[in-house]
Amino acid sequence: MRHAYVNGRYVPHAQAQVHIEDRGYQFADGVYEVVPLRDGRMIDEAPHLDRLGRSLAALRIDWPMSRACLGLVLRELVRRNAVADGSVYLQVTRGVAPRDHKFPRSPKPSLVVTTKWAGPATGLGAKGVGVVTVPDVRWRRCDIKSINLLANVLAKQAAAEQSAFEAWQVDEAGLVTEGASTNAWIVTADGALRTRALGSAILAGVTRETLLGFLAHEGLRVEERAFTVPEALLAPEAFLTSSSNFVLPVTRLDGKPIGDGRPGPITRRLRAWYLKHAGMAAES
Ligand code: PLP
Repeated sequence: MRHAYVNGRYVPHAQAQVHIEDRGYQFADGVYEVVPLRDGRMIDEAPHLDRLGRSLAALRIDWPMSRACLGLVLRELVRRNAVADGSVYLQVTRGVAPRDHKFPRSPKPSLVVTTKWAGPATGLGAKGVGVVTVPDVRWRRCDIKSINLLANVLAKQAAAEQSAFEAWQVDEAGLVTEGASTNAWIVTADGALRTRALGSAILAGVTRETLLGFLAHEGLRVEERAFTVPEALLAPEAFLTSSSNFVLPVTRLDGKPIGDGRPGPITRRLRAWYLKHAGMAAES
């Protein structure tokens, strides 16, 4: 039977519940992480838990338990659910309290953990995906992995309604911030890898960071600088990164082809490297 972890107990997933006055439910007063799983092992666990610590600190929410204990809970749920490939989701909120915007006096953080199996291979890595652009209407602390994902939900829905995989959000200066649940990259005409610099406008993606490490190791040129939509349309290649999608080629932007409309050589190389890093089989 599939289990979830809810505030100290492993319970059947179908019966997993939180209180109606959990502040996550009422105010989106919480944070989350998604850690990819391969062969039942977490990929890049440490940077995900580092980021969880940063998100919690930014909102002044305490760790629900020590980091070491949290690691044990994650592992135990993965073991109980016998998940090989997929992801483990964890959410920490400020806890249950009578509804009142300001912090409760002695908050007791809530912790929920679930696991998910990866679906069948989609073939998107070989084909590439379409992206549309939407205005970035989010708040100014997008570096916090907040469970308030309303703008991201609307952006992803806009993409789905245009048969696209992802929406790239564009700030008031006309610069792409990031996708609804992914970081955005282009390859420039002179072969540099360009992605927006860290700051409060984007989430510090773990996949982004891992890839930057590889690019530095390989001596590939990186520009941590934002790009416009016209620049992306002129780029020979574009791609997105996330824990769920790894490195995924972007072959259409607002219905127009990027490059020749097929995944380019640099993107294919980076995807192949990431799959290897994650212990996955190479794609043909
Ligand atoms: N940007 C946003 C808004 C996200 O929600 C995510 C992942 O969920 C990412 C970027 C990619 O981050 P990561 O590579 O850590 O999955």
